[in-house]
Amino acid sequence: MEVAKNKISHLGHHTSDIGLKDFIENSENRSLKDSIDQFDNFILNLKKNNEHSFFRIITSAPGRHVYVKNEVNSKTERKLMFGSNNYLGFGNNPYINKKVKHVIDLYGTGVGGPALLNGYSKSMNELEKRIARFKHQEDCMIFSAGYNANLGFVSALIEKDDLVLYDELSHASLIDALRLKQAMSVKFKHNDCEDLEQLLALHTRKIKGCIWVCMEGVYSMDGDLSPLPDLIPIIKKYNAFSMLDDAHGTGVLGKNGSGTAEHFELSDKIDISMGTFSKTFAVTGGFLAANKKLIQYMRYFARPYMFSASLPPMTLAAVNAGLDIIEQEPLLREKLHKNISYASELLKAFHVFQKSESAIISIIVPKWMNIRKANSLIDQQGIFLNAIEYPAVPKEMQRFRISLMAQHCKTDIEFLAATLKLVYADHKVRY
Ligand code: PMP
Repeated sequence: MEVAKNKISHLGHHTSDIGLKDFIENSENRSLKDSIDQFDNFILNLKKNNEHSFFRIITSAPGRHVYVKNEVNSKTERKLMFGSNNYLGFGNNPYINKKVKHVIDLYGTGVGGPALLNGYSKSMNELEKRIARFKHQEDCMIFSAGYNANLGFVSALIEKDDLVLYDELSHASLIDALRLKQAMSVKFKHNDCEDLEQLLALHTRKIKGCIWVCMEGVYSMDGDLSPLPDLIPIIKKYNAFSMLDDAHGTGVLGKNGSGTAEHFELSDKIDISMGTFSKTFAVTGGFLAANKKLIQYMRYFARPYMFSASLPPMTLAAVNAGLDIIEQEPLLREKLHKNISYASELLKAFHVFQKSESAIISIIVPKWMNIRKANSLIDQQGIFLNAIEYPAVPKEMQRFRISLMAQHCKTDIEFLAATLKLVYADHKVRY
């Protein structure tokens, strides 16, 4: 701790060995003013060393290519996009754009309140019913973000005698929700059925309330799938309830694009299906889908649903039009999966974390590599990639997180592989 503190207070030109974690861990030793000043210095140094790849300003519509403003010379540069959750290109699709424009003419741009009072539009009511069918559930409720959906689930349903068992790689929104609610919770080892079963066996006797098991269909950092065919029978055996966050599987996996549960033919075994509109649908929003009574209860007790304005019809129209495409154009999904297979094959030479069936492929950077410098070189070659640094992932697991789109061509993937090869061979990326 002392070492990190010294590192921060003597920030010189080299920021490579300092990360956000150093600021989080040592905050109790500094005043807020010192934290803010030192953080400012840290960011300035990153910029000076051309290692700052956060908050890049995108000046074009999202797509296979995007234009990004260069922080140093203010010019816009074209980048091949391998860092967006816009997996099916819905962020700028002519059919979706047309539908949204039409809805603006019909309903305007906003609603002016939460669903409970004055923000429950016809568009929202109809889309909730459509998503319920899409997720093979009875009913659905739409939140203004996926983050809020997870917060809503915990705030409404987890009571003081209940226990939440959650995968250790669960998204921050679930972790934050559990903290806020001060819910009783224990994490199980990532995708580890044995660990989950042991915890269920241990706690079932002790817990007076319900036990919820929270999983993700596709884990957002590694791109691996939840082993639902193994996990679900264990959850059922102990009469626990399942909650599946399928942020990254919805629209991508399953015969009809419904997601990971459909991929494993287990849609009817999930108690609560959660999803977001911020990935495949490329807008904002999230949802919970479950049986009618549960949804009715949550409409009145999920705080982010009650106390935050609901999504405007134009956003809902984009999701609705996206669902049309998911239903009517399975070829688009097939194209994405072809790209996933091709990229997995071409990137084998790098340390691909898992064989991926999802649109996320993570390659773990070697210990000798300065990930920020490497990303800066990749950027200079014209590729937009996300470098995932510690503490978002463990130090030895820092990675480039590649997100594929249906719109990528073979030559894009080949260019990515060639660029990575070039950058990995460049001595400048070594510590
Ligand atoms: N869950 C998971 C697994 C996610 O990856 C995300 C977004 N990163 C969220 C929830 C939150 O979704 P949103 O962006 O819609 O708030």
